[in-house]
Amino acid sequence: MSEFFSKKHSSLKAYTPGEQPTGREYIKLNTNESPFPPSEGVRRALENEADKLQLYPDPEYKILHKKAAELLGVPAECILMTNGSDEILNYAFMAFGDADTPFAFPDISYGFYSVFADLHGIPSKKIPLKDDFTIDPRDYENIGMNIVIANPNAPTGIALTLAQVEHIVASNPSHVVIIDEAYVDFGGESAIALIPHYNNLIVTRTFSKSYSLAGARLGFGVASADLICDLNTIKYSTNPYNLSRMTAVAGAAAIDDNDYYMSNCKTIIENREWTTSALRELGFSVIDSSTNFIFAEHPDLDGEELYLALKDAGILVRHFDTPKIKNFNRITIGSIDEMRALVCATRDITLKRRTK
Ligand code: PMP
Repeated sequence: MSEFFSKKHSSLKAYTPGEQPTGREYIKLNTNESPFPPSEGVRRALENEADKLQLYPDPEYKILHKKAAELLGVPAECILMTNGSDEILNYAFMAFGDADTPFAFPDISYGFYSVFADLHGIPSKKIPLKDDFTIDPRDYENIGMNIVIANPNAPTGIALTLAQVEHIVASNPSHVVIIDEAYVDFGGESAIALIPHYNNLIVTRTFSKSYSLAGARLGFGVASADLICDLNTIKYSTNPYNLSRMTAVAGAAAIDDNDYYMSNCKTIIENREWTTSALRELGFSVIDSSTNFIFAEHPDLDGEELYLALKDAGILVRHFDTPKIKNFNRITIGSIDEMRALVCATRDITLKRRTK
C-alpha cells in the first residue's frame, strides 16, 4: 500500500476473482463460463462494428435496451445495461446504501456483496444459511435493511421459489431488494414478472454465463422506471459510456440468437445431471443444482487436496477457504467431454487416496 492510499480504503479487502491462467492449458471449470462459443451472429456483428471504434457509442444504448425489453417483456425504461452485472450491483450499493441504510445478504454467497458494502462505507449483515445450505426466507422478513440475494445462490447452486422471493420483497416495502439472477437460465424462476407489482425490487442478470459473453462484460438490471432513473444517475456520475461499442453490438446480436443460447443451456443442464450422478457414484455428496455449476464434497477427501490434485491433472475448479465450505469444490459444468475428463481424473484421485 502506498502512503497516498486514502485512509477510508486502507482496510478494504478486495474481491479475488477465480484464476484466469495463462501458459498451461487447463480444462477450465472454475469461473462458470460457458463451454460454447458466441453465436455466428455475434461474430458477424463484431466484425461490422470494428470499423466504427473511432466513435463513442450511444450512451443510452437504445438498440440493445429495445431488444432486451422485447425479450423480457418489460418497458425499455425499466432496464439498465452495464459492464457485467458486477457494475449494476456496484451502482445499486452506491445508489441505495449509506451509513444509515445497511445491506443484508447470506453469509455464504457471492463474495462481491461484502466488498461493495465495505468500499462504499455501508454496514452489512451476513445472515447464516441453514445447515443444509438453503436460505430461510423468514430470516429476511421485514428486516429494516436493503437486501441482496443471489437466486439461485452461489456457490451452493440452490434456488428459492418465486413465492419465497415474493415473500421477501413484499415484507420489506421500505427497502430495496436485489435478486441477482446470474444463473437463472439454468433452472431458477425469474422474479422479473414481479417488477410491475413492487417498486422496491431490482433483478440483475448477466450475459457472462448463459450467453457465452463473459469476455465482453455485459450485464443489466431490471426494476421500476424510478429505480432505474436513480441507477442512471450513478452511471452518468461515474462512466456514461459504460459499454464499449463491441459489447453493445455483441449483446444485441446475442439476443437475436436467443434460441441458440437457450439450447446450449439445455445441454449444460443435461451435462450437470450426468456429472452429478457420476460424482455421487464415486461417493461424493453433490447438492442438487439449479445453475451451471455443482457444489460437491467427498467424506474422505479434503476439499483443498482435491482442488490441488485436479489442478495437477490439468483441471481447474474453484475452492474457497471459508471455514463452512472449505471441504467443498465448486465445479463449472462444461462440455460432456470436459465432464468425462473431470470424472475420470476424480476417480483416479479417490482411488489413489484409498490405496495410500
Ligand atoms: N453474481 C453472481 C452470483 C456471480 O457468480 C457473478 C460471477 N462472478 C456475478 C454476479 C458477476 O458476473 P458478471 O460481472 O460477469 O456479469
